[in-house]
Amino acid sequence: MNGTVRRGNLIVLSGPSGVGKDTLLAGLLKRVGGVVKCLTATTRPPREGEQHGVDYLFLSVEEFERWIAEGKFLEYARYNQAYYGTPLHLVEESRAKGLDVILKIEVQGGLQVRQRVPEAILIFVQPPSMEVLRQRLTARGTDTPEQIERRLRIAEEEMRVMPQYDYLVTNDHLEGAIDLLRAIILAERARIRKE
Ligand code: 5GP
Repeated sequence: MNGTVRRGNLIVLSGPSGVGKDTLLAGLLKRVGGVVKCLTATTRPPREGEQHGVDYLFLSVEEFERWIAEGKFLEYARYNQAYYGTPLHLVEESRAKGLDVILKIEVQGGLQVRQRVPEAILIFVQPPSMEVLRQRLTARGTDTPEQIERRLRIAEEEMRVMPQYDYLVTNDHLEGAIDLLRAIILAERARIRKE
């Protein structure tokens, strides 16, 4: 109304590995304009087909630790024997353009974002049940049975953090879950009172 660009919202999307966050996010980005997924950095090796600057910024441990020392991360965490972190400048650039920025990050990082950016919107995606999660991880075929058990244990720990998030989306039916995410994003754009 006054000619200045509305600063975009910061949205955190978390949930156990295998819950379908990537599929949800891809569907969401097709259905809502003005939303971008933020590129993040990691020290884990690229998986087949993954590209630097597209899937992640793949950094060495030395580079990552230098970025930490230089205060370049909005948040960072160690997860599954690697570092993962969100470069602050990427988030700021998009928000300044009025774009809503989605961070697809694990829960330790999500809680750090909450501390540093109190107005951030935290959305937790849960599977319909742990049994469904087990089936999905098995069907994906990328993990050994031991790795699947490990992911399920991590998932149980992640679920304990859920009460600290703002919104809960159950990924039982893909289209319904995407609709709900879209509704949350649109409602948050219309919000007047911010605590
Ligand atoms: P993956 O190795 O499977 O790509 O990712 C492992 C986990 O790290 C996923 O839950 C993913 O969402 C999370 N992750 C990706 N980037 C970041 C980040 O910048 N910060 C944090 N805290 N977690 C991240």
